[in-house]
Amino acid sequence: MGKKTQELVKKAGLNVNELIKKLNKAYADEWLAYIQYWTGAQVAQGLMRPNVQSELKEHAAEELAHAQMLSERIIQLGGAPILDPEDYFKQTNCGYDAPKDFDVKALLKQNIAGERCAIAVYNDLLNYTRGKDPVTMHIARHIMQEEQEHEQDLEDLLTDITSK
Ligand code: FE
Ligand code: FE
Ligand code: MG
Repeated sequence: MGKKTQELVKKAGLNVNELIKKLNKAYADEWLAYIQYWTGAQVAQGLMRPNVQSELKEHAAEELAHAQMLSERIIQLGGAPILDPEDYFKQTNCGYDAPKDFDVKALLKQNIAGERCAIAVYNDLLNYTRGKDPVTMHIARHIMQEEQEHEQDLEDLLTDITSK
């Protein structure tokens, strides 16, 4: 529990509980994104299967790293990360879109939608913390940059596959 950390955030005018709630909602998103990418990589079929699988696996690992960053910040702010995976579904912003069509194009499209949702979530978190909590803002900025890279990587793969 970072006593001074919490004091500074409160002094800057943020409601610490509300901030922790937002971070936990993003944390739920990251776990679900991790599972969605990881599962998609297992079942992917179709054109450029190995390329798509390695990109999905790479993104899964990055989503898990995002969950780690959020968990650390939640704890510094005096909270705890969501403890029961059932609550991921209750608190998520972006939801979980189970892979049903295993074709690489369908998988890419559903993960692109997830990335676009994630980008909006971190944009909101940036606006919420701007000028008040530079450390959380920096985390949100860092994660948003990676989500934008994810969106681009998947769009590029989809373009390459559909132009064949
Ligand atoms: Fe992420
Ligand atoms: Fe992502
Ligand atoms: Mg990538």
